Amino acid sequence: MLKLFTSEPIHDPLAPPVPGAATEIKTTTCYMCACRCGIRVHLRDGALRYIDGNPAHPINKGVICAKGASGIMKQASPARLTRPLLRKAGSERGAGEFEPISWERAFDILEQRLATIRATDPKRFAFFTGRDQMQALTGLFAKNFGTPNYAAHGGFCSVNMAAGMIYTIGGSFWEFGGPDLDRAKLFVMIGTAEDHHSNPLKIAIGEFKRRGGRFVSINPVRTGYSAIADEWIPIRPGTDGALFMALMHVLIAEDRIDRAFLKRFTNAPQLVVLAPGSEREGMFAHDPDPAKGPPGDGREPHNKLVFDTVSGQVMAAYPEGIAEGRDPALEGRFALADGTPVAPSFQLLKDRVASCTPAWAEAITGIAATRIVALARELGETALEQAFEVPIAWTDAWGHRHATTQARPVAFHAMRGLAAHSNGFQTVRALAVLMSLLGTIDAPGGFRHKAPYPRHIVPNFRAFNSPDMIRPNTPLNAAPLGFPASPAELAIHDDGTPMRIDHAFSWEAPLSAHGLMHTVITNATRGDPYRIDTLMIFMANMAWNSTMNTMAVREMLNARHADGEHQIPFLVVCDAFQSEMVAFADLVLPDTTYLERHDVMSMLDRPISEFEGPADSVRVPVVPPLGECKPFQDVLVELASRLKLPAFTNADGTRKFKDYPDFVVNFESAPGVGFLMGWRGADGSQHLRGAPNPEQWQRYAENNCAFTYHLPESMQYMRNWNREYLDFAKDKGWRQKNDVVQLALYSDTLQSFRLAAQGKTAGRQPPEHLRERIATYFDPLPFWYPPLEDAAIDTKSFPLNAITQRPMAMYHSWDSQNAWLRQIHSHNTLQVSPRTAARAGIADGGWCWVESAWGRVRCQVRYSEAVEPGTVWTWNAIGKADGAWQLAPGADESRKGFLLNHLISDVLPHAGGAISNSDPVTGQAGWYDVRVRLRPAQAEREEQTSPQVAPTPAPPGVRGSSGRAIAYFATRGKR
Ligand code: SF4
Repeated sequence: MLKLFTSEPIHDPLAPPVPGAATEIKTTTCYMCACRCGIRVHLRDGALRYIDGNPAHPINKGVICAKGASGIMKQASPARLTRPLLRKAGSERGAGEFEPISWERAFDILEQRLATIRATDPKRFAFFTGRDQMQALTGLFAKNFGTPNYAAHGGFCSVNMAAGMIYTIGGSFWEFGGPDLDRAKLFVMIGTAEDHHSNPLKIAIGEFKRRGGRFVSINPVRTGYSAIADEWIPIRPGTDGALFMALMHVLIAEDRIDRAFLKRFTNAPQLVVLAPGSEREGMFAHDPDPAKGPPGDGREPHNKLVFDTVSGQVMAAYPEGIAEGRDPALEGRFALADGTPVAPSFQLLKDRVASCTPAWAEAITGIAATRIVALARELGETALEQAFEVPIAWTDAWGHRHATTQARPVAFHAMRGLAAHSNGFQTVRALAVLMSLLGTIDAPGGFRHKAPYPRHIVPNFRAFNSPDMIRPNTPLNAAPLGFPASPAELAIHDDGTPMRIDHAFSWEAPLSAHGLMHTVITNATRGDPYRIDTLMIFMANMAWNSTMNTMAVREMLNARHADGEHQIPFLVVCDAFQSEMVAFADLVLPDTTYLERHDVMSMLDRPISEFEGPADSVRVPVVPPLGECKPFQDVLVELASRLKLPAFTNADGTRKFKDYPDFVVNFESAPGVGFLMGWRGADGSQHLRGAPNPEQWQRYAENNCAFTYHLPESMQYMRNWNREYLDFAKDKGWRQKNDVVQLALYSDTLQSFRLAAQGKTAGRQPPEHLRERIATYFDPLPFWYPPLEDAAIDTKSFPLNAITQRPMAMYHSWDSQNAWLRQIHSHNTLQVSPRTAARAGIADGGWCWVESAWGRVRCQVRYSEAVEPGTVWTWNAIGKADGAWQLAPGADESRKGFLLNHLISDVLPHAGGAISNSDPVTGQAGWYDVRVRLRPAQAEREEQTSPQVAPTPAPPGVRGSSGRAIAYFATRGKR
């Protein structure tokens, strides 16, 4: 049965057992989403039969979800690419016309092109990757190549969440920290869909609810987690920051805050210089003697000052200010010995939230003021009056022994719903400050860090920022990504222009710790700030669901100069599947699936650490690669070796690593610190730190592909200030210093940018057209402002917010071609409150035009009471371009599915020009800012979404229907 589009199943789980067939179970790590659950893959005669959860795995303890169990259909996908492909000479990008080539030819093409770029101007190579889990390798490649033009997906995902939290408390949610539901009594989830920390969080919520915990979900949409919450509080998108400010207003006004915690563990009592016009205005006052005080937490000295209410004197914050008998002021206004006016930063926060009343927030969020007051009281009462002591002794950074650990049983969890707005950084800052006021940071029952977090504030990773160090055949002198602490660390030229193609770490987005992947194609097409030669994209569907303004970006990918040369001269795409992006490539590199390759979830990158200690894990191949597919990691190690990049090359010029597994075992970022921390040392007897062990992969494979290290209880809490933990973390190479991580309620880092924008400091200053933007948004205290799109459009004409989320049953855009998961979601509809839809004259099941200031889409409407009435929403990345992914012509995904991306502009007007539609602090893409209106579609139109695109042909070697037959027969032991 080799005919196209057969109705026969791709995989037949009910096929009778084959007598005498050899069965086998192999363990590895799931990658149907990014949660990294352990799985058992069941094989018969080497062919996949089914996948279940690994009961012995620390993350999921045997639980598996619909996605994880459907991995077998990803493996059997007809959309698998199987051969390297070269665009046919003379064909258009996007037409999908390719000729198959050998890997040797593909490597030759790449080696020749990249060697020339590297020998002349390395920044003309841009390397951007999607939701991969190997940024330690890709970043190392870029750094050694010598290009600053590198980033992964974080800029269009949740960098606001990461940066907003890390710049405030030294850690963030998900891989880096999360809610301690074992001891929490109240759990507040905000802006979180189903796709983050999926199984582990579901397990934890289940147990939390069984123990009687109360779960409140704040979200514009009541799906997934919100549907099982004890209470759903609908909120207008982009207004969470206003809610947090009002909650702080009530908590401070009613004195429901943890004052002892604020005084000892945060910068709340530290004195801020108020002298207007001074270049220290808004910065912390320092003791002039740099030798005084403990070491700084990052790049700033730490000898800040407090006002002691007992002695009535200004003194060093540490150790004098916290000595026995001292009581640093949180409120008031004081003067230094030279008369400089100062105030504790908490006083400034108190002043800031004074006007953020619940009534003010009600008008913005749509949440009744009375509900906001009640929620604030519940937070304060649970954190303070239901607090309890856990009998775990620990020693703080100043040598004080605490006989117990204070529990603060209010736990929060938040994610992209907060982050993916142009006001997301300050919103996330507001949440982190709110959590700090309650003392619920790395406390039992509250937010808890996961190693290697907490980091310093600001983390001791500076992004590359020396334009004169972009030199032929020379590695960069710093990693391309990092955390700037002041304008001096921006990646800009002397005239203020960006050094990077995505404008990351420039005045447009100074704290863009994850880069701005969503700006690369637009900027490269415009040659802004310069022209590049080769753009390599890994695992990112930039021609469809991973880009704003999708149709325009598809045109940009094919845009040419007058002489016919493409604006982006060479485009390399690496993916395992025939995504929409593949059709635009000049060179296609077929990747493996997660079941066919080695991977590491490393402490150098994104480990699987738990609250109790560091953990990492691996994937090992359970089936051989399909066709000529090659793991992208191996491709990078091969390319790096051919290009003789220093980290991959011995002194005599020979290659250092045979392949990626060899690289993982033998690469050391510092003596004894490698990608994997389990079973190190020549004989595998050392953990965390030790010499490379040639049998390390084997040890992981024998141990459920995971390694967990349990810290002693005395090191499991209060890690920002825990002397034992800080020393241990430094010793193991997770931190560069062992100094304390004081919470930054007030951010003098942000203030340093603002002072530059106000022209008050002598160093770098932003260009005129960005001065006001920096001065406004780099506020050292959190604040709420409307998403930036609101100022660019007439909000009365576009009264509704439009947002998307990923469904529980799908994660990557890959999943829409998964035969099992397609049966759950084959297309998406626009979910609208019945009142809102009826007002627009649209019936349940009717078709409508959704219009924004930037574009329009045609789609079907479904009524839903589970959405805030001013919001419409849909599932993301289910709509597909016709012909992509080997879906049948006219498949639901292309005819009935749609993308909201067409409505979202990639740029916003700014100062007579345009600027990326991103958060002005971090460059996070403002996905959820778009405003829309609804209009009924004409009844006579056929029931099909708009826009549609011309189908592309199947590339050579795509598995297609013959692959179906192969997989089908394989289940019957006829391979
Ligand atoms: S939650 Fe994610 S990683 Fe875990 S089984 Fe499901 S898809 Fe796999």
